[in-house]
Amino acid sequence: MNLATPIGQISRIGPIYAKRLQRMGIKEVKDLLFHFPHRYQDFSNIRAIRDVGLGEVVTILGKVLDIQNTRTPRKRMNITEAIVEDASGAIKAVWFNQPFLLQNLRPELHVVLSGKTSFANDSLFLSNPSYEVTRPEQELKHTGRIVPIYPETAGITSRWFRYVVKPLLPLAEKFPEYLPPEILQRQAIPRLSEALKHIHFPPTLEDAKLARKRIAFGELFLIQTVALKEKMKLRNTYAPEIHFDIELAKEFVTSLPFTLTDSQRASAWEILQDLEKPYPMNRLLEGDVGSGKTVVAAMAALQTIKANHQVAFMVPTEILAEQHFHNLTKLLDPWRVTVAILTHSAHRKTSQKVKYSAFKISKTRVAKETAEGKIDIIIGTHALIQDTVKFQNLGLIIIDEQHRFGVEQRAALCKTRTGNDEQKAIPHLLSMTATPIPRTLSLAIYGDLDLSLITHMPKGRKEIITKIIPPAGRSEAYQFIREQIQKGRQAFVICPLIEESEKLEAKAAIKEHETLQKKTFPDFKVALLHGKMKGKEKEKIMKEFQEKKADILVSTSVVEVGIDIENAAVMVIEGAERFGLAQLYQFRGRVGRGEHQSYCFLFTDSTAKTTRARLKALLTAKNSFELAEEDLKIRGPGDFIGSRQSDMPDLAMASLSDLEFVKAVRAEVEDVLSKDPELKTNPLLRAKYEAFRKEIHFE
Ligand code: ADP
Ligand code: MG
Repeated sequence: MNLATPIGQISRIGPIYAKRLQRMGIKEVKDLLFHFPHRYQDFSNIRAIRDVGLGEVVTILGKVLDIQNTRTPRKRMNITEAIVEDASGAIKAVWFNQPFLLQNLRPELHVVLSGKTSFANDSLFLSNPSYEVTRPEQELKHTGRIVPIYPETAGITSRWFRYVVKPLLPLAEKFPEYLPPEILQRQAIPRLSEALKHIHFPPTLEDAKLARKRIAFGELFLIQTVALKEKMKLRNTYAPEIHFDIELAKEFVTSLPFTLTDSQRASAWEILQDLEKPYPMNRLLEGDVGSGKTVVAAMAALQTIKANHQVAFMVPTEILAEQHFHNLTKLLDPWRVTVAILTHSAHRKTSQKVKYSAFKISKTRVAKETAEGKIDIIIGTHALIQDTVKFQNLGLIIIDEQHRFGVEQRAALCKTRTGNDEQKAIPHLLSMTATPIPRTLSLAIYGDLDLSLITHMPKGRKEIITKIIPPAGRSEAYQFIREQIQKGRQAFVICPLIEESEKLEAKAAIKEHETLQKKTFPDFKVALLHGKMKGKEKEKIMKEFQEKKADILVSTSVVEVGIDIENAAVMVIEGAERFGLAQLYQFRGRVGRGEHQSYCFLFTDSTAKTTRARLKALLTAKNSFELAEEDLKIRGPGDFIGSRQSDMPDLAMASLSDLEFVKAVRAEVEDVLSKDPELKTNPLLRAKYEAFRKEIHFE
């Protein structure tokens, strides 16, 4: 037997279990060894039944002597009573309304019970203890006192996993150690083979902890190796060197109707310096909604254009394309730049002769003129630019508001390129996002990206008045919204987040829309937007809302309401406690864009103190970065990494809230790669890296 032996060939696993395992993605011996327990039961704390006192929380280990269900006559509640015995004595255990226990805890079985003791009807008993079927104490003694508890899914018990995994443990020796020995030593972590044995059957809880640390370290090490090697690869390619024209930058800054914030200035500086380099920029510009990312991008675009290169500006929706077309035309007007827009319904370019004006040209002409280099900057939706447009001399790609940060888009835009080296140069890439990424995550997972942060809002923004509204305050809040609408304002209503189900969320939004339209605000026009609608339909509704054809927009959380609606002054968030703080912050940023005082109401039914405390953080937060760190601690990385997440190993993910740990891994990866960029001296690590790269679908 070896690591690649199919589980069907293991004698202890019959065909039924083999099928169940396969459904969980466990196909070979090695997958079983990598199916980890999620916690441990520490039998070294087991108490003799004779010594158990009243009102104590205890764990006991014994044999079920008797078990039966009875009913309370009046309340018609089911009661399960069991008698459990160990060498020192016996005790009663009582559960309420769990009649099915009879099937699990049969007489003669050995069980571990943990719970609090109570006293009634002249006897001491364990009240509603947690339970687990286990092995006799004799046997436990020589298998160690710490027993792994596996997640019980797909009809497989924890006990079964122990039974199957234990005899396979010697095979852990066959996993090659891919981490260099000096790293193991420096970090004081065990070898992989030992870690695998200890993660399943640890001699002590401390060993279990170290084992988990080691596995997480290995996984993060590979993730970061992939990211850093990606960065190095890019460094070995060409990009057009775009001269940093300081005079031009100054001219641009003075042309603005406002002064740049310090962080806008710093970000622009970083970007313009990157553009000068002979290899492609790979930079992410992060800043809250409304922090002014567009001008920074425009500054980079202007430099690129004046250095005789073209710019592609890609956005997720048509409305956003229109908004950028409008803004960039204005911002770049003094330099007579030719700006074009290309979406399914819009295809125009600016006139060189008439200020701020654009005229319609056919899609084919937009494409043709771009190919001829007559268009300096083209703004459009991803798909369209990617598929239909070739550039004569593309120098910079700007990608706005999307999660995957454009690596694929750049690859697609580069694919068709032929010609000499100069023409084969890879364009610089600037992605922009309003999603704050916690530092551990950007280090660990987006380590190939350089970051620029806009941490401050432009001066003079009116603060959005934010209130947490309990159920009792609802009607008053509605009255307030009514007055706002009567004054001519508009409002957003965001429906509660329903984890994992866009469909249920859409359904809830439809219902909410109906209630608001029919009952609460029959005299206003309420519009509806949800994730199950087609892209075109969503765009139409957003556009109508922008044109003030509706007063209230009910929307699901999945819908990106990413455009400026200056007249919107109220943001209502239903079920606010279900959202991450950073996400709430983003929603709130959708109002307060114009001159009007704006409001954000966080509706919540939750009375838990912790919920209120968490929501209150939003009332004082200066930017969303702090909130993102907080979210990561409380909610894990799911909110931030979207599509990449499912491919990432669990323990690595769990370790992401530990900045020191992530940094330590990073430093080791940098050390290894700086001495041996191709990993030539470490073929095992190289093989592991290559396999892992495929596994997380990096290519
Ligand atoms: P986002 O970062 O969300 O893309 P935008 O670039 O759309 O933000 O900017 C939001 C608004 O703020 C725009 O109307 C823009 O003109 C304005 N703005 C940007 N920078 C400043 C600044 N430094 N001072 C004042 N207003 C600014
Ligand atoms: Mg923007």
